[in-house]
Amino acid sequence: MKAIVVEKFGGPEVLKLKEIPEPRAGAGQVLVALKAIGVNPVDTYLRAGTYTRKPDLPWTPGTDAAGIVEAAGPGAPFRPGDRVYVYGAAAGGVYAEKAVVEASRAYPLPGALSFEQGAAIGVPYATAHRALFNGGGARRGETVLIHGASGGVGVAAVQLALAAGLIVIGTAGGDEGAAFLKSVGVMYALDHRKPGYVDEVLNLTDGKGPGLIVEMLANVNLADDLRIAAQRGHIVIVGSRGPVPIDPRLAMTKDLTVRGMSLANMTDPERAQVHAGLAAGFADGSLKPLIGAKFPLAEAGKAHAAILAPGARGKIVLLP
Ligand code: NAP
Repeated sequence: MKAIVVEKFGGPEVLKLKEIPEPRAGAGQVLVALKAIGVNPVDTYLRAGTYTRKPDLPWTPGTDAAGIVEAAGPGAPFRPGDRVYVYGAAAGGVYAEKAVVEASRAYPLPGALSFEQGAAIGVPYATAHRALFNGGGARRGETVLIHGASGGVGVAAVQLALAAGLIVIGTAGGDEGAAFLKSVGVMYALDHRKPGYVDEVLNLTDGKGPGLIVEMLANVNLADDLRIAAQRGHIVIVGSRGPVPIDPRLAMTKDLTVRGMSLANMTDPERAQVHAGLAAGFADGSLKPLIGAKFPLAEAGKAHAAILAPGARGKIVLLP
């Protein structure tokens, strides 16, 4: 089968399409013929070899995908032909035509969702869910600022927050980004490239600030988040690409909670619970993954360049 293989860390050009042996499903595992693969920013950090952990080489990237079960190992509660979305391969990654997955990390793909939408769930929706409800303790009627709402995690966070009855302020780049956020139901959409937009968040909340901030780019925004968060507010750091100077006194005087959140720390029972909750949202139509750009698997390098470029519009997927 064909898969993307990285033999040395580097730029997008190190993502090479190669022929590799087809994996086999063992006990409790399923072999899935992949129809769509989700691209996440972390795939690019790992490929570059600059992340907090480095994969052993040669390495196939990718965590999110959706497809059709081709074979089920003993004890795996799936049958050939089942449509599934998956979170992580048992070995290697999912930038491939097929992957073997632990059955506990394969989930029935709701009939209303396409394979592309299925490939947009595992990391983005679970991350958004954990950030809002576990990290941030989101409560109905509260105002949440989703700081970076136009990408994979951001759109998921918007939909989850709206479904839970929160008031949503979202940011994206440019007038077009703000218009995109309006189209996905954000009540107050701001352009994070526009000078002074952060003060607009204060205006929208009668000077009080949002009770919850879900932050996608903390190295740029954390100092401002501390300034605008409401008294006893919560800031959940989902994304950060470097260090940032902050004034801790702002956290002190407002009794703020600043909390980091990594999906990698999610326990298996927590994951099962979150995906059950997501299934309810897919069934009632409140959650609908949005697909931005699509690339053939062979052009994974272009997808990696695209996900780090401004102008996110939902999820980027690869098509094997
Ligand atoms: P994505 O699809 O590439 O979206 C990136 C988002 O960041 C877009 O909404 C983008 O908006 C926005 N952004 C750009 N400049 C910004 C600024 N100055 N202020 C606020 N937002 C800004 O990525 P994603 O999949 O949504 O992931 C978002 C971040 O979370 C990434 O850093 C990723 O590594 C991280 N992440 C962390 C976890 C975890 O477990 N902690 C899990 C998944 C993702 P425009 O393009 O419209 O400018």
